[in-house]
Amino acid sequence: MSDTVANETVDDGTGGSDFIRDIVRQDLAAGRCQSVVTRFPPEPNGYLHIGHAKSICLNFGVAGEFDGRCHLRFDDTNPMREEQEFIEAIKQDVRWLGFDWGEHLHFASDNFEQLYQWAEELISAGKAYVDDLPVEEMRAYRGTVTEAGRNSPYRDRGVAENLDLFRRMRAGEFPDGARVLRAKIDMSAGNMNLRDPVLYRILHAEHPRTGQEWSIYPNYDFAHGQSDAIEGVTHSLCTLEFADHRPLYDWLLENLDVPARPRQYEFARLNLSHTALSKRRLTQLVAEGCVDGWDDPRLPTLSGLRRRGVPAAAVRDFISRLAISKSDGLVEMAMLEHCIREMLNLDAPRRMAVLRPLKVVIENYPADESEMLTAQNHPGNADMGSREVPFSRELYIERDDFMEDPPRKFFRLGPGREVRLRYAYFITCQEVIKDAGGEVVELRCTYDPATRGGNAPDGRKVKGTIHWLSSAHAAAAEVRLYDKLFNSEVPATGDDFLSDLNPNSLEVVTQAWLEPGLAAMPPGQTVQFERLGYFCRDQGGHPASGSDALVFNRTLGLRDSWAKLQSKA
Ligand code: ATP
Ligand code: MG
Repeated sequence: MSDTVANETVDDGTGGSDFIRDIVRQDLAAGRCQSVVTRFPPEPNGYLHIGHAKSICLNFGVAGEFDGRCHLRFDDTNPMREEQEFIEAIKQDVRWLGFDWGEHLHFASDNFEQLYQWAEELISAGKAYVDDLPVEEMRAYRGTVTEAGRNSPYRDRGVAENLDLFRRMRAGEFPDGARVLRAKIDMSAGNMNLRDPVLYRILHAEHPRTGQEWSIYPNYDFAHGQSDAIEGVTHSLCTLEFADHRPLYDWLLENLDVPARPRQYEFARLNLSHTALSKRRLTQLVAEGCVDGWDDPRLPTLSGLRRRGVPAAAVRDFISRLAISKSDGLVEMAMLEHCIREMLNLDAPRRMAVLRPLKVVIENYPADESEMLTAQNHPGNADMGSREVPFSRELYIERDDFMEDPPRKFFRLGPGREVRLRYAYFITCQEVIKDAGGEVVELRCTYDPATRGGNAPDGRKVKGTIHWLSSAHAAAAEVRLYDKLFNSEVPATGDDFLSDLNPNSLEVVTQAWLEPGLAAMPPGQTVQFERLGYFCRDQGGHPASGSDALVFNRTLGLRDSWAKLQSKA
């Protein structure tokens, strides 16, 4: 495990060299291209996840570093699974990550007419044919990895008949699946992708952009390389699973009158522990209600991470630490969390919140008074300023910060003990009040007015500092505590993966208490609740929270297991 992580993790701090950037550098130096053009080519059939971020950062990053440009192109060749919602969400996520495609927003569907003309070109050259074999038979004819395929009985149809049939396919004369157009390459090729691959299928389906215009749709493989060529893409970067498709892309480019010759380079996809980075699986989790939509903060989707309070810069930082290589590995979720903590530790303003309240009454503080105390917004960064928090006779502290019979190493509150209330006063616990069931329900304490601000003029020390809120002033909120989505590092394959879901991935604290100022904080902003972790105000109006509810999502707790691992290594 740690081997594979080490293999994926290169942080040389130079902003990057890898085999792809080396190739681009050489191509520019040798004049093989005037400027670099890349593209990020999502299929609009789901939301983007952090794996896609690797591809986005690479494509936009390379274009930016070498003064080129990067397109956003939707490979929208499958109308059955595509929706406008996904197109909009993908655009929003790429922008959120910090990238701009300028005027280069493209769609494979923009090229449907050109692709169709190219298909006719292949037919006319005797390099494509219409096949009537039913799907199952076509599969049987295809052979296996160890066994050559057989030629379809329709393979030797004449050009005129092929053209006529293909035009009638386009005209909508035949039902779905009745015929396909196939490239005529080699049924005994070792590479299965070259065994007369299907180029067009009949599909009477409404397309999000072309509506009812087409009754036939190009396959992904027929649209992808040619769309790159039309856009003048110089370096077509994709993940390793497309390496076997490259010979087909090259065959098509060689046999068609295309305006440019993109080169494809493959890199290893990102795999992340304790989650799923496959659209099929994410779609299933959403469809079966295992999570609350594509932007559920437990999902590794970019919209989920955003809703969880992860800054885009932390995602970019994480991606920049990954090697762009040709070998697959598994990256620890703890490493992503480390990058998020590192950034939030610097940037997130500190606030106070009490998730599991225990009432504290300061007996020697007047009942009808309150005062404002000054709290630092960031203990390590005075530039972030300060704020005022109200203090009064009745307070909440965290239940965990009191123990009736504390063990030796517990330095917080206990009977007769004195602790510091952060930014406020020293208090001493005088009496513990319990309910009939023996549960502690209230602490009676006294405070030392001379310790205002949190320091004693006589120099006496306390071992513990705890956070608190004035109960009369605190704002009630719902706080959602998220944990990893899957128990296993690598969730089981197949449909079993659902049984691996962590049943405790979400704990809802329905009534937590917050500093009053947090009620005015805008959604999407992340703060540190002192001693508890990082929390992000949920988007107002989110269906899960209601439009005016005060809801905070936990981004992460404070403990960094990755940093600990690294320091041991
Ligand atoms: P699926 O998750 O079902 O495999 P996909 O993620 O490949 O689908 P696409 O929309 O085709 O969906 O992906 C767009 C681009 O993002 C592709 O170029 C793909 O190679 C890249 N990509 C997808 N997943 C990852 C990943 N985990 N790591 C790096 N790049 C990825
Ligand atoms: Mg794909």
